[in-house]
Amino acid sequence: MKKKGLITGASRGIGNAIALKLAENGYDLILTGRDVPMLGSVKDACEKRGAEVGVHTADLSDEKEITDLFKKSGAIDLLVNNAGFGIFDAIEDIKLDDWQAIQKINVEGALLCMREAMRSMKKSGGGRIINISSVVGVKGYPNQVAYGASKHALLGLTKTAIEEGRDHNIRVHAICPGGVATEMVKQARPDLTDFSAMIQPEDVADAVAYLCSLPHTITIDCIHLRRAASPQTW
Ligand code: NAP
Repeated sequence: MKKKGLITGASRGIGNAIALKLAENGYDLILTGRDVPMLGSVKDACEKRGAEVGVHTADLSDEKEITDLFKKSGAIDLLVNNAGFGIFDAIEDIKLDDWQAIQKINVEGALLCMREAMRSMKKSGGGRIINISSVVGVKGYPNQVAYGASKHALLGLTKTAIEEGRDHNIRVHAICPGGVATEMVKQARPDLTDFSAMIQPEDVADAVAYLCSLPHTITIDCIHLRRAASPQTW
């Protein structure tokens, strides 16, 4: 039987690449985000690769939209918690609203998706959750205080979920990429201009596919994916 994966932030960038890769690898998919036309074009591309695809829009700042999303999606084998965003300011310039908006999506949204997925996976006998954190989840960068704190928090959620999932056959992983060639990196790292030297969204998708290929008897807690030109992060 085909496995079913739910990908948040599937409308563009890294989430789009993950959707295409999983479709190629035989998954059926639930794609979510807010941008209906973009989700539609990712759906078409995944269907061309053989996947059965459902699109359920949800704003991850809204708990009810998240619970509705999981109700509509039914049982899933895989959750990729990929949606995220950043506003990039120095500490002295940070606005409380911006801080709260980032934590709302990157931490609370991810937590609520994990809550719904774990409830469902416990009932169905297991599954896998992959959280897309960041190099700024393990390292400080100037002007990234709110975003960096949210990605540190996502690793904290991951560590707890690894423990709570273990005895229920739920494997939980994080991926911490450095700069990936998407729209987001233009705001986060305006100093990086050579997209060809960056990690590509497909590289992150390959890491997701690798984690999905692991037998349930072994696991990898975190993949640090770094531009070869950048310093080591662990
Ligand atoms: P992106 O191109 O800006 O895509 C972000 C995705 O998140 C979009 O699909 C967007 O969907 C979704 N999203 C944002 N706010 C949302 C909300 N309120 N409700 C539902 N969905 C929402 O960014 P990306 O570079 O692909 O990043 C994907 C993930 O990788 C993020 O978690 C990011 O932090 C992480 N990451 C990125 C980099 C990088 O350098 N690019 C490096 C490390 C980690 P809609 O617009 O359709 O809602």
